[in-house]
Amino acid sequence: MADKQALVIFGATGDLALKMIYPSLYFLDMEGHLADNLIVVGAARSELEDNAFIAKVHDSLVDHAGADFREDVWARFAGRLSYCAGDVTQETPYRGLNERLKDCAIPLHYLSTSPDFFGTIAGHLKSAGLIRPETRIAVEKPIGRDLKTSREIEIALEQAVPEDRIHRVDHYLGKDTVQNLIALRFANTLFEPLWNKDSIEHVQITVAETVGVERRWSYYDSYGALRDIVQNHMLQLLCLVAMEPPPDLDANSVHTEKVKVLRSLRPIGAAEVERETVRGQYRRGFMESGAVPGYSEEAGGGTSDTETFVALRAHIDNWRWAGVPFFLRTGKRLPTRSTQIVVQFKPVPHSIFHRTMNAPNRLVIRLQPQEEIALQIMNKTPELEAVRLRPVTLDLNLIDAFRTTRRRIAYERLIFDALNGSMFLFVRRDEVESAWTWIDRIEAGWKERDMRPLPYTAGTWGPSSSFALTERQGYSWVE
Ligand code: NAD
Repeated sequence: MADKQALVIFGATGDLALKMIYPSLYFLDMEGHLADNLIVVGAARSELEDNAFIAKVHDSLVDHAGADFREDVWARFAGRLSYCAGDVTQETPYRGLNERLKDCAIPLHYLSTSPDFFGTIAGHLKSAGLIRPETRIAVEKPIGRDLKTSREIEIALEQAVPEDRIHRVDHYLGKDTVQNLIALRFANTLFEPLWNKDSIEHVQITVAETVGVERRWSYYDSYGALRDIVQNHMLQLLCLVAMEPPPDLDANSVHTEKVKVLRSLRPIGAAEVERETVRGQYRRGFMESGAVPGYSEEAGGGTSDTETFVALRAHIDNWRWAGVPFFLRTGKRLPTRSTQIVVQFKPVPHSIFHRTMNAPNRLVIRLQPQEEIALQIMNKTPELEAVRLRPVTLDLNLIDAFRTTRRRIAYERLIFDALNGSMFLFVRRDEVESAWTWIDRIEAGWKERDMRPLPYTAGTWGPSSSFALTERQGYSWVE
């Protein structure tokens, strides 16, 4: 057996690595979840000595671990770190890695680079002999920018390692609340009998960001909100809400149920895009932090028809969900940072209370800014003179019930699972491809109808037509 094992991180100086991957590894180390002989090798384009790389990781950990930063844990973690510079499209970094990792097992290559490099890196890893029998590859979302490019990447990945060793990361799946949604639905008798068209009126999924495009204009501009957020995070959430009970908790059983949902999504093409979707792009405006520039005025930006906001109405054409609209909405520079799923139940069939006192039951699954699950029910107020009702929130916060001292970063669980070979929280190839098939049709519809993004002022909830999308059916977005 090799003396050491190496986790290699490509894109090691990038935003995601600094913000999420090192802090997650640090916490895994703190809790004793990293093997003593695991080393972590960063690979990226910048020419850096090991020391400079380690200093970079140190600074980001001080920022991101906050009060949980401990010198003793850092000393151990820093001892694992080293760096290998080079352009991933050339042979140099792979030669460097080969030199360093001659006697190492390599459980995982983590590809935290632009998806444009996934196929190239996988090909080089294979030809450089950096794929060992145990090696797994993790790739970040989005995989490609459409079905065609995602297939090209998949072919390159599968030439390097088999499907059951490819970990397609969607970090929403690493969140406790998202996993609790599965427990809530399938470990309780209470919800599942109501979880269908007979009791549920509609579902809303919102992913609202207050940030703009930040320093990622050139990346973002060739993707846009539909490809960057809806294709992956939002459709994954929709799948978990809508899927049938899997026969067991085997990763493939769950993936199969999710694919069935994706394949049941009613296509939205050129004939439907104007009615079913809204595209927007932020203009300059005011956020809590002060005045902010418009999308085209951001650093590195220019005139563009890329959307920074999407709202759409989806339908799942199967027996469970016939006629139940799923409203999806995501955007940048919206008034609050919030990610939530709202399941709104139908009104009671006959109310004995005054109609002004009826409010729908809602199950709200919130992922950001806090992770929580709450059920809104109607309750009588305690006054003597009259019978009045008021909605109150029943806190189903399963996370609080098990709260330890800190909340885990989603990536901790994902990296832990990838290192240990569990596929449950990752996305199978046919999920990615079914999602792209649906998304590509919307993109093609926008193009055919020349449907450009409508302007919205930064700090507002997007173009007014996104309100019309729900209000046409008598509903409103829950904020
Ligand atoms: P980034 O631009 O901040 O970092 C890219 C990294 O790739 C850097 O380390 C850079 O040196 C390296 N790189 C670029 N070109 C290279 C080349 N030719 N050779 C070698 N290295 C090269 O990107 P990021 O924000 O860290 O995103 C990385 C991946 O993670 C992307 O696929 C992105 O979609 C995904 N992702 C990012 C976030 C996030 O919050 N940043 C969230 C979810 C998913």
